[in-house]
Amino acid sequence: MSDRIENFINSNAGKKVLGALGVNAPRELARYTPSQRSFFKGRLLLGAGDNAALLAQVSKILAESDAEVFGDDNARLQCTALTQDNGNDAPFAALVFDATGMRDSLELVAAYRFFNANIRKLAPGGRIVILGRPHMGADNAEQAATQRALEGLSRSLAKEVGARGSTAQLITVANGAEGDFGSSLRFVLSPKSAYVTGQVIAVNAVEQSGNVDWHKPLAGKTALVTGASRGIGEAIADTLARDGATVIGVDVAPMEDDLVKVMTRLGGQPLIADITAEDAPAKIASAAKQAGGIDLIVHNAGVTRDKTIANMTEQQWQMTLDINLAAAQRITRELLDQGLIRNGGSIVGVSSMNGIGGQRGQTNYAASKAGVIGYVDFMKNDEQLRAHNITVNAVAPGFIETAMTAAIPLFTRMFGRRLNSLSQGGLPVDVAEAIAFFANPLSRGVSGNTLRVCGQSWFGA
Ligand code: NAD
Repeated sequence: MSDRIENFINSNAGKKVLGALGVNAPRELARYTPSQRSFFKGRLLLGAGDNAALLAQVSKILAESDAEVFGDDNARLQCTALTQDNGNDAPFAALVFDATGMRDSLELVAAYRFFNANIRKLAPGGRIVILGRPHMGADNAEQAATQRALEGLSRSLAKEVGARGSTAQLITVANGAEGDFGSSLRFVLSPKSAYVTGQVIAVNAVEQSGNVDWHKPLAGKTALVTGASRGIGEAIADTLARDGATVIGVDVAPMEDDLVKVMTRLGGQPLIADITAEDAPAKIASAAKQAGGIDLIVHNAGVTRDKTIANMTEQQWQMTLDINLAAAQRITRELLDQGLIRNGGSIVGVSSMNGIGGQRGQTNYAASKAGVIGYVDFMKNDEQLRAHNITVNAVAPGFIETAMTAAIPLFTRMFGRRLNSLSQGGLPVDVAEAIAFFANPLSRGVSGNTLRVCGQSWFGA
């Protein structure tokens, strides 16, 4: 019955009825396909405050795309390579603003002027990117306040443009990381970030070099994904394999048939293990060793055991904490102790918006998912990881269309998927793209981030 109602809502007749009630169908988001020649195509306007540090680098990165790049007056004064818009009023596919030089809050008016003059020219499905500095790296309080102000600006812009399927993000580029933010810029400008909006990506200075093929950034890499037989884990395995990685997929024995099917399709290797079993870290380490080490581990396996805390059994609490949080830590520790995560590798945890905002009936789940954020935040400073240039990050999905969310009662589900700036649920591939971005060899400067893949959910921080 609920399927029939949903089918009607999604039909043309249903959309007309909803339209008459003032509920518009959300804009379909464009997603990456390998037929797209480069990470970005279209007209792009670059603006800047005074003393902008990244204009030349941004122009260089965009030269590898199919962008037609223009500069506003202030940007052109600072970067002579930029040209003036021919003034034909054609829409822009992206607006990029370099705010790295801003040191005083009243200088922010340059950003106001840029967006005030141009935001109406942003095409549906467009991209806004602001480039700033991490406020804690500032020389003084005024500069810190100014740089942090950019976060409020970009998150609010995301809310203003979301209804048209457009996104807005802030990338903070630390001093010395001027050559390291390319993978972040490519990601947020591209359709790979379709369901990521209102986010801040922090880039630190690292030693990294070389070129990476935009279509096969993970060629020659080996990735291990837990919970890979279905849902988000399957999409992660698919996406990493699409990007060139060899995948080892882990799942529990009852999921063996599904796991084998997925791994056969991808030319990957199935590994049956309950990640909470005592021998799981050794078993997984042994598979990693046979592969000659791994470049990426994605701790995706997770469960919910929802009950209000008064009705929750200790077993439901403990099982959720063990699968979603503790087991991942034991496995990571074993891999690190045995030196099985290669130099330049990545560790990725899967958190959840409910770990940020909390959820009634999910004290166990939310605690486990908040723990994932604490883990990556702490581990980014781990000496062993830093010595081997290994990054550690998390994704925090919001409402993603999977078997898990299909089980939510119809009306809760209908509202749940719309309570974000893009007014729709995300797809498993959206989570997978964010993980592939972390794993990209040119994302070594991105560590300790928790990236929300939630369409800027209205709940949570
Ligand atoms: P899912 O239930 O479809 O898939 C989870 C997978 O993990 C299954 O294949 C399951 O067999 C496996 N798994 C469970 N316990 C395991 C264990 N002990 N050892 C090995 N494998 C085990 O869930 P999903 O919706 O695809 O979610 C994947 C991840 O994303 C989870 O961590 C989940 O908490 C998180 N997440 C999902 C959503 C969403 O909207 N679907 C939102 C936020 C976060």
